Amino acid sequence: MSLTSYQKKRNFERTPEPKGKKETKARKLIFVIQKHEASHLHYDLRLAMDGVLKSWVIPKGPSYDPKERHLAVEVEDHPMEYAKFEGTIPEGEYGAGTVMLWDQGTWEPIANPKKAYKEGKLEFTLHGEKLKGVWALIRMATHGSKPNWLFIKKTDDFANKVPDAKLLKTNSVKTGRTMDAISKNKPGKLKR
Ligand code: MN
Repeated sequence: MSLTSYQKKRNFERTPEPKGKKETKARKLIFVIQKHEASHLHYDLRLAMDGVLKSWVIPKGPSYDPKERHLAVEVEDHPMEYAKFEGTIPEGEYGAGTVMLWDQGTWEPIANPKKAYKEGKLEFTLHGEKLKGVWALIRMATHGSKPNWLFIKKTDDFANKVPDAKLLKTNSVKTGRTMDAISKNKPGKLKR
């Protein structure tokens, strides 16, 4: 768990993203999902673990349908501060494009999270504003430095709660803004 790869990829003179540092104090297990309109639109799932945010790129985004198995590509750990980030990464910089804070809350692992992560089978309850109930991340195969996982809704009372099309077009949980309003730097109506 280290932020070296995260910091190497970015020029903090140019991007508004946080430089960050690894946190040592124990704190609540937060999670966020950021909707990111980079060269390809995707959703970034981040789970706090061991002082950093473990991160997965989910091209199709989450689905409440337990039959859907959406690819989640593990990427570099991000700093805890990144959980608050919403804004625009300038053109020419790593991950250039608009970032929306799409969901936030806490995650509750079913078993020891570090062991489960190592074994490639993480099951957890999400207490988010949009995502609730039990979800799983299952590691499939590793291509180069990027392990492929599947992000799956487990069957429970929340399964099929919201249709995908409705879920995926919801606005920012931080500011209530659309992607368009964030990209134009318009003020939001929610204050947190
Ligand atoms: Mn991203």
